[in-house]
Amino acid sequence: MRYSIFSLAANALSGHRRWTPAWRDAAPQADYDVIIVGGGGHGLATAHYLAKTYGVRRVAVLEKSWIGGGNAGRNTTIIRSNYGLQGNIPFYEQSMKLWEGLEQDLNYNAMVSQRGVLNLAHSDSQRDAYARRGNAMRLNGVDAELLDAAGVRAMAPFLNFDDARFPIIGGLLQKRGGTARHDAVVWGFARAADRRGVDIVQNCEVTGFIRQGGRIVGVETTRGAIRAGKVGLAVAGASSRVAALAGLRLPIESHVLQAFVSEAIKPLIPGVITFGAGHFYISQSDKGGLVFGGDIDGYQSYAQRGNLPTVEDVCEGGMALMPMIGRIRLLRSWGGIMDMTQDGSPIIDASPIDGLYLNAGWCYGGFKATPASGLAFAHLLATGEPHPTAAAYRLDRFATGHLIDEKGQGAQPNLH
Ligand SMILES: Cc1cc2nc3c(=O)[nH]c(=O)nc-3n(C[C@H](O)[C@H](O)[C@H](O)COP(=O)(O)OP(=O)(O)OC[C@H]3O[C@@H](n4cnc5c(N)ncnc54)[C@H](O)[C@@H]3O)c2cc1C
Repeated sequence: MRYSIFSLAANALSGHRRWTPAWRDAAPQADYDVIIVGGGGHGLATAHYLAKTYGVRRVAVLEKSWIGGGNAGRNTTIIRSNYGLQGNIPFYEQSMKLWEGLEQDLNYNAMVSQRGVLNLAHSDSQRDAYARRGNAMRLNGVDAELLDAAGVRAMAPFLNFDDARFPIIGGLLQKRGGTARHDAVVWGFARAADRRGVDIVQNCEVTGFIRQGGRIVGVETTRGAIRAGKVGLAVAGASSRVAALAGLRLPIESHVLQAFVSEAIKPLIPGVITFGAGHFYISQSDKGGLVFGGDIDGYQSYAQRGNLPTVEDVCEGGMALMPMIGRIRLLRSWGGIMDMTQDGSPIIDASPIDGLYLNAGWCYGGFKATPASGLAFAHLLATGEPHPTAAAYRLDRFATGHLIDEKGQGAQPNLH
């Protein structure tokens, strides 16, 4: 069923009893051309572009629980392409362009809202760094504006300008950045892939790999063995665990990242705002809740829940930036597992084992990458070659020293 104003009207007139399921509940077949492990945004986007752009339709997405139950449904929904390094800029800008046409492509309302992303500067050196990043963006055709304090005040007068410990002296604004409804992105990709014949198999955990002469030719799952020409991993926080089933040790540490939502208030925050003197970012959902987050919990974990010291740290960041937030009540918080790489940039590459491909290392920035990651991984799986925008995301860069250290933090995953 195609969604349109006409289908909406027809279903409204028939009491909304004729809507069909958005995707089939597929049972696993004996073999596929491509198996994608992980039904998050990246796995489903890969399946969509494999079927749509590369004509590969004998594809299964195997998800151990329900699609979108991982980070895809747990993130703070920020999308942006305000990167500064050459390895990243074209990739994230391609993602932004795909976001801009995504709802038409998927025939699904993903609530893509380009309400702007503003990074605040609190010192001269930080402003210089933002000027450098903004110039790199503009040289690559990405929109960027450097604001002074008055420009920031005009956009967000509620921030603490007058007696702040870290005065706001300006900021870098990307107006095309913003937010998208994370669950809807998952459902939209799932529906679009399903319409092209992709099998989405939920409650199907991959527990091992089938090998033949050194090559991976399928997977063992909780629903039986399934063979495939190629197997792609898109399991985000579980990357090191699942790769270990194939005998691979990845340069990835898993850490928890928490997110927070407040009670709903009237519209206050115009877009996404990030605090530059601590780690705190905030936006407001269409329902009115303030959605915010900060640093990862500093220890390694596979638990989808965080700890109180980080809750306190994040809330302190919010208080420093906009003290009136202290009067709002926190409604919910939760955690997701981040696949942190040594340089904070992802991996989209063939693994050293024939037949096995990797899409991993998204750290806490993979939601915005969902469309481009899906396209680049589909390209790699279909052609065997890296997509031109993702050519720097090689696994061997950690051995050769070609790191893409966007944050300049060095090889320390918990700082990226
Ligand atoms: C709190 C939080 C806030 C974030 N905020 C942002 C943000 O604002 N902007 C941004 O760009 N990014 C953000 N991120 C990061 C982003 O959500 C992730 O990088 C991205 O979602 C990862 O890709 P994915 O959607 O494919 O992952 P997931 O949704 O985690 O998908 C991986 C799937 O693999 C499945 N799986 C694991 N093991 C197996 C197995 N053995 N067999 C089968 N299936 C398996 C899991 O169940 C899961 O569904 C945030 C993350 C969190 C947790």
